[in-house]
Amino acid sequence: MDYEAVIGLEIHAQLATDTKIFCGCSTRFGAPANTHVCPVCLGMPGVLPVLNARVVELGVRAALALGCTVQPVSVFARKNYFYPDLPKGYQISQYEEPLATDGRVSFTMAGEEHAVGIVRVHLEEDAGKSLHEGFTDSARSTYLDFNRSGVPLIEIVTRPDLRAPAAAAEFFQRLRAILTAVGVNDGNMEEGSLRCDANVSVRPVGETRLGTKVEVKNINSFRFLQRALEFEIDRQTDLVRGGGAVAQETRLWNSAAGRTASMRSKEEAHDYRYFPEPDLPPLRLEAEWIESVGASLPELPDARRRRLKAEHGLPDQDAAWLARAPEMAAYFEATAAACGHPRAASHWVQGPLTHRMKAAGIGIDAVRVGAEALAELIGLVESGAVSGSMAKDVFERMWETGRSAREIVHAENLSQIGDAGALSALVDEALAAQPDAVARYRAGRTGALGFLVGRIMRATRGQANPRLVDSLLRERLDRND
Ligand code: ADP
Ligand code: ZN
Ligand code: MG
Repeated sequence: MDYEAVIGLEIHAQLATDTKIFCGCSTRFGAPANTHVCPVCLGMPGVLPVLNARVVELGVRAALALGCTVQPVSVFARKNYFYPDLPKGYQISQYEEPLATDGRVSFTMAGEEHAVGIVRVHLEEDAGKSLHEGFTDSARSTYLDFNRSGVPLIEIVTRPDLRAPAAAAEFFQRLRAILTAVGVNDGNMEEGSLRCDANVSVRPVGETRLGTKVEVKNINSFRFLQRALEFEIDRQTDLVRGGGAVAQETRLWNSAAGRTASMRSKEEAHDYRYFPEPDLPPLRLEAEWIESVGASLPELPDARRRRLKAEHGLPDQDAAWLARAPEMAAYFEATAAACGHPRAASHWVQGPLTHRMKAAGIGIDAVRVGAEALAELIGLVESGAVSGSMAKDVFERMWETGRSAREIVHAENLSQIGDAGALSALVDEALAAQPDAVARYRAGRTGALGFLVGRIMRATRGQANPRLVDSLLRERLDRND
């Protein structure tokens, strides 16, 4: 029997505010331990949380960017549990009435359309951090840093719409691109700004009911997500194939061992005894304000992909590639507009330009060959003034010197030889110098033609117009004199 995997993700993203969700403490990463704390985020008795308006705005931005409906009323609740990094004994989160519901993220992967439903987006506070390593007495003691306590988060819960580890990793990357594009998250996974819990089950192909799921907690890299899912799917499939059953549990990914390991089972799962937070009123948002937040969102990657495809007639893969980064897309569009050849512009941006940027380790903003300058080069190629192979050299010189394509072509005499008179002489020379090739061609071995074209291209350092050379050669050879 064949099995398929079902995957749903729960993503925690830190909202990019300067201050925490319920107090004025700084959210800056990397400060000395316990220097960004106050009675509110330390959970002292008798203090009141005050909701940070910027957190709400960023949460709404994220929700709208994920295609969700923002609820006019959402409610904060206490999620009760004991853990040393949670001094209050509860986390303030949203539970029954979240900030936003019912979104959707679509993207293409290897030319295939994918869509992932978003169940909900809610606001919550982060807990502190337990430090189990790095101290002389770490074998006996755990240290606590509360700088992170009260840092604002959104939790994004997807529907179980994903079927493959690679698609899950791709989705997580696209989600990161969306969140960073709208400025709600800094995308820094190493600092824990973005992390994900992966839920996965298997079931026989054709079965519509969901299998028992396992949750793999706290994954902070795309590669780990993919590897953890691959491992889990193999493990679960082997289990059910062997007649066993998957236990519902929470597991952790051990990247060194390349495997997941059980953390706690369903029986140990928490009963959080949620109840509405008595110190915070329900969050009420006006429709007009939500609309104005929506209107301030920039174009998102998937919308940009569709637009590039439609407006410039690009193949889907090219449009998807260019759409990923807004600056690259803008550079491409400026080039295409200036030269009027979108496909050529796409080729140059994805190929030579990107190669050069990678080699130099710089971003598009530091590139001195501007869109106009690249457009000029493309124009010279398209008009036949510069041959395709010469164009690469011209581009290299533009990159190195910052001079324009025209200047370089003029100064270094690189323009294409497209004059039949000038080429005729070269063709005659080549025929005289290569009697063997001529004989082979006339004996019906047409491959000899390519050889002769190559000789002439080399003799002219690539400057001859290869199509013209080809036709002049044919004309001469077929004349049979
Ligand atoms: P829980 O109550 O355990 O938190 P939820 O229904 O809230 O479960 O779902 C949590 C996440 O797990 C969601 O992303 C959801 O898509 C995913 N999920 C739920 N059931 C399954 C399943 N059987 N297999 C894979 N993923 C699942
Ligand atoms: Zn504080
Ligand atoms: Mg849940």
